[in-house]
Amino acid sequence: MGDDHAVPGASELGQEMYQLVTELYPICRSITGDGVRRTLELVGRHVPLETFEVPSGTQVFDWTVPKEWNIADAWVKDPRGERVIDFGESNLHVVSYSTPVRMTVSLAELGEHLFTLPEHPEWIPYRTSYYREDWGFCMSEDRRSRLKDEDYEVCIDASLEAGHLTYAECFLPGRSEEEFLVSCHVCHPSLANDNLSGIAVASFLARHLSRLDLRYSYRFLFIPGTIGSITWLAHNETAAARTAHGLVVAGVGDPGPFTYKRSRQGSAEVDRAMCHVLEHSGSPHQVADFSPYGYDERQFCSPGFDLPVGRFSRSPHGEYPEYHTSDDDLDLVRPEHLAESFIQLLAAVELVEHNGTYANTNPKCEPQLGRRGLYKAVGGQADQEAMQLALLWVLNQSDGSRSLLDIAERSGLVFGTVRRAADALAEHGLLEETSPASQR
Ligand code: ZN
Repeated sequence: MGDDHAVPGASELGQEMYQLVTELYPICRSITGDGVRRTLELVGRHVPLETFEVPSGTQVFDWTVPKEWNIADAWVKDPRGERVIDFGESNLHVVSYSTPVRMTVSLAELGEHLFTLPEHPEWIPYRTSYYREDWGFCMSEDRRSRLKDEDYEVCIDASLEAGHLTYAECFLPGRSEEEFLVSCHVCHPSLANDNLSGIAVASFLARHLSRLDLRYSYRFLFIPGTIGSITWLAHNETAAARTAHGLVVAGVGDPGPFTYKRSRQGSAEVDRAMCHVLEHSGSPHQVADFSPYGYDERQFCSPGFDLPVGRFSRSPHGEYPEYHTSDDDLDLVRPEHLAESFIQLLAAVELVEHNGTYANTNPKCEPQLGRRGLYKAVGGQADQEAMQLALLWVLNQSDGSRSLLDIAERSGLVFGTVRRAADALAEHGLLEETSPASQR
């Protein structure tokens, strides 16, 4: 696609991704449990998935796979039997990983287990207690302020027992054993942008790529945050070492500008590819340096792995008011935002797929391009000038040491134009590929 912004079918694709977000939205996910399994089942309708079950108690580097958590129902009732909090209305009402509980408490005791968001009094916050056994409820400040000073019956019908951590991979073999890793988290309950947008875009990117002849092999991970990437890395050091490029995809359905966070390496090919794509996207965007905070790039970029894995998002986590609240819902995420995110990711993938290095076969002075019909060989009127420049840049820079991305960066031309120029020159025998981008 290169500099062609329009992707055929992008709006239908946006609708399909949004449909998946809608289907996944009601499911109560956590870092383990049936919510993750159900989510992977639904994703598996779109792409071939292999699902893995890792037993609780498994040691993974400095961590231990936790007990499995499942929940059937939860509520708080006032003395008249009225549910003042009801899990059935929103799964955010229960602190994720709450231990089972059934007792009667005073408002003061209940208050020690209640979380609200006073700055957004109508929203329910999202809270977890994965690694400290406790129970709790989340509710809107508005409703909490109406609770009377009386006794409440609390019930969390949940189980926290030895079980499994569930994750899935979609592996797409390419011509090379070198891999492109795409990772998204599947551990949040009814939050649309934080986790469901990433799942949807990753799934449809995998589906799209599964129909293509690929240079790299692609490994899509659908994993619970933190413990999932740690578990995967602990069990897949060999596969991890084959990672040539990688992206964590998270928070890609909101209206915010695109945000790319560099890998720990800082200027890995995937970092340069994403930056190039965003620079030429014509859309508002920002590029952030690596920091050891955020999503699973923290684990992929830990010094013992130091993988070239960056993160692609729209609004960064924690920097939009709806983040980790009930307002991260099906209104925040829109089909067109999902589609735009898909387009940027696909452009970066296509860039690394075609980022070959060439040698000019006629390096002493310029070859005569007019005689070969190359000046008008490719492109429409609009990019004729860019194409002519690209032909000269590619011929000049291709000495076997500079990739097409190097040339795009140095010339200021968009990668797609540079690539088309290289293809045209190669067809006329004026270029020879020295490091294979496309062993066709
Ligand atoms: Zn989150």
